[in-house]
Amino acid sequence: MHQTGAGVELRHKILQYAQERIDLDPAPLDGPKSPADLFALAGKTITEAGLGGEKSLEIFAEVLAPSTISTDHPNYLSFIPAAPTELATLFDLVVSASSIYGGSWMEGAGAVYAENQVLSLLADECGLGENAGGLFVQGGTLGNLSALVTAREKAINELGEHKWAIICSSESHSSIKSVAKVMGVKTFAGDAGSSGSLSKAAAAKAIQEAQDSGYTPFAIVGTAGTTNFGILDDLNGIAELAKEHSLWFHVDGAYGLAGILVPELKHLYKGVEHADSFIVDPHKWLYAPFDACALVYAEPKYAKAAHTQHGEYLEILNDSGDFNPSDYAVNLTRRVRGLPLWFSMASHGVGAYRTAIASNVDLAHKIAKDVQDRSYLRLVRNPQLSVVVFERLGWDTKDYEDWSAKLLAEQFAFVVPSSHQGKTNTRFAIVNPTTKYEDLLTILDSME
Ligand SMILES: *Cc1c(COP(=O)(O)O)cnc(C)c1O
Repeated sequence: MHQTGAGVELRHKILQYAQERIDLDPAPLDGPKSPADLFALAGKTITEAGLGGEKSLEIFAEVLAPSTISTDHPNYLSFIPAAPTELATLFDLVVSASSIYGGSWMEGAGAVYAENQVLSLLADECGLGENAGGLFVQGGTLGNLSALVTAREKAINELGEHKWAIICSSESHSSIKSVAKVMGVKTFAGDAGSSGSLSKAAAAKAIQEAQDSGYTPFAIVGTAGTTNFGILDDLNGIAELAKEHSLWFHVDGAYGLAGILVPELKHLYKGVEHADSFIVDPHKWLYAPFDACALVYAEPKYAKAAHTQHGEYLEILNDSGDFNPSDYAVNLTRRVRGLPLWFSMASHGVGAYRTAIASNVDLAHKIAKDVQDRSYLRLVRNPQLSVVVFERLGWDTKDYEDWSAKLLAEQFAFVVPSSHQGKTNTRFAIVNPTTKYEDLLTILDSME
């Protein structure tokens, strides 16, 4: 099967498909279909004898791929899109072709060395000390989980068992609650209020509330760019509070921490240098393909103590004293998912990243002005990074849904409704350097 599976012609077709997909400018937006529709078109694809590569590729190219939305389309503006550089995407193919085990230094040394250089750059930009280090994990949810498990392990070692609590914000990402559920701990959220930014005072109130309810906080999560609005918490105030209460300070920057690469934005992140851990997702705003989260600890030894797996088959790795990425998160087998970002960053230079991120922020601020200038729209909050949230005055949820469905049906844009405090709105999340101002204006026009 291994040697004869792909004949020369089929191999060429598969690589050609990948090449042509990369070259599409832009890729079609496409859209989902129902399971029944997909069955009607694709049928049963897993069979005893196999369909053959040609047929399988045809089904993918003609039925399955068009039933997925291209998140790299310039007018995919929902959730947080992805806009990988061509070099990052191409290098993802190389990672796939190379069969590298990224869990241990023994097996993955060269690739882990390269990944670590990217992590060092991120740690330096954030002002973490020279011990800082970490790894790339699958996504922000897993990064947050790994960091917070580390924090709790440290707290247990210092204080013994307690009813543990994580302090977060009313605007924290949904993954913090999900992580707390997995860990069997409780969250207490400080009220981010009308600004959407968690203040030191609001976080202090949440700590008090946790203690009054018989819980012991062990970590506080500051968000460096909320998912819905791209707003930063008062990281400096939260860092002070963490110090006063001996709490682990974790910065969730899955989307927004990339902005720290822009010199003009750096001041927004003051306080991140005190973080015990942070995450940032390259698949969000560092122009890398799915899926990768950079997880960095100020003192990785705490993560190693919490996460190293033991087994007779593993002790040869544990005894080596090497830096084994698997030891620092909830994972063992690991794709070297930081390599596409490494290759692109090594090739283009960090300067190109700073410029691209700055241009996304500039575009967001520019279109926010146009939103303000239109009488039928209301800007919900001034953008800080590259997310613009606005309402169409007089519309109910159904109006937003119909409008959104029409934009997708016309294959012009993918902009879904969101909401804030029970009120429906919509938002542009701009992380794609090929998104055009004129197209954003056309979308605003379509709401008149
Ligand atoms: C997207 C996001 C996450 C979760 O990251 P995944 O990679 O989707 O798991 C966590 N925190 C914030 C602030 C996010 O925007």
